[in-house]
Amino acid sequence: MNDSKTQLQHDILTYILSTNGIVHEPELLDVYAQLKKKELNEANVLKLQTKLDRLIGLINESLHSMDYKIEKYRQYTPMALRTISSASIGSTIANDSTNDGSSTRDAIDLKKSNLFYVYTNLKLTQSSKLATFYKPTELEFVKYVFKKLMEPNELSSIKDLNLSNDKSVSYKQYIDKIIRLDHNNEEDGTSSIGSGTYTSFNKGSTSLIVGFRNSDMNVDSLKLSDLENILTRLCENKWLTQYGDGSYSLYIRSLVELKDYIKCFDNDDGSSETERSEEREGTEGEAEELNGNICNICQKIVYLGGIECSNCNSFYLDIDCLKQFLNRCHNSDQSVICSYCKHEFNDVNDIIYIL
Ligand SMILES: [Zn+2]
Ligand SMILES: [Zn+2]
Repeated sequence: MNDSKTQLQHDILTYILSTNGIVHEPELLDVYAQLKKKELNEANVLKLQTKLDRLIGLINESLHSMDYKIEKYRQYTPMALRTISSASIGSTIANDSTNDGSSTRDAIDLKKSNLFYVYTNLKLTQSSKLATFYKPTELEFVKYVFKKLMEPNELSSIKDLNLSNDKSVSYKQYIDKIIRLDHNNEEDGTSSIGSGTYTSFNKGSTSLIVGFRNSDMNVDSLKLSDLENILTRLCENKWLTQYGDGSYSLYIRSLVELKDYIKCFDNDDGSSETERSEEREGTEGEAEELNGNICNICQKIVYLGGIECSNCNSFYLDIDCLKQFLNRCHNSDQSVICSYCKHEFNDVNDIIYIL
């Protein structure tokens, strides 16, 4: 391998690490183009994407022996959604199996990419990863936050959504574009957000902090400022993100590594853990709840942006799979029905938005 290529690998890896290990695809592509002294334009974007992925593959080969890997993860985020103009909404998913060739055109609008590059350690469990960043006392709060942020909030009416809460509003509008069920509202997207029911998972800092202090997980040695500081650090390390209204939700790193989450509780502190799981069973089982939000097509956690069947509450799809699912139904001239309970999706009341 020649030196310039090794240098390029080194520079890209350094950049990914400088972003705390999670970087949005358009951003990394831009860095790659700059390093290659190439201008990023319509003519070469696909070529550069392919080359970047090949480079990531080479980096992964050298990371392999150290049990690290750069993974590509799909997740729409409000950050990416905000840049989507309503006219250009379409498929941008490189690995969308129903892709009909429109990807060439759509891929040029990079800002709406839903792909992230994530640097992960394959060997460490989430629990040990966290332990490198947080002291044992701090971990108690971290675990509490994760647990709370995985509990769905109560169902609310879309009409109650605050229009300035762009996270939820942009997801709602994006889902509506895909499902086209909210017929009354098509022309009027900006002033009205239509109807339906939604659930969400974000929680305010007060509810997290006060909730923790009142819980049996409370560690008295942690002051209010310590707890606030932990929330800030969780955001910096991209476990959490904070929205405009101040509320927190799990973010890319948590979503990628959430499946380790259960282990994180199980492997920990032996005896006290048994007591805790018994308590949890009394309220709501953690595992059950987590399984309840798995996308029925791709098995990803549906936590930000997706739908749930309002009839059986067992059928979940994230945005990407929702697209594929609807395409499949339309292509086969089938009406859109829940795969579990066969309930027909005719209007927005047949689904619960996950925003
Ligand atoms: Zn899915
Ligand atoms: Zn159903």
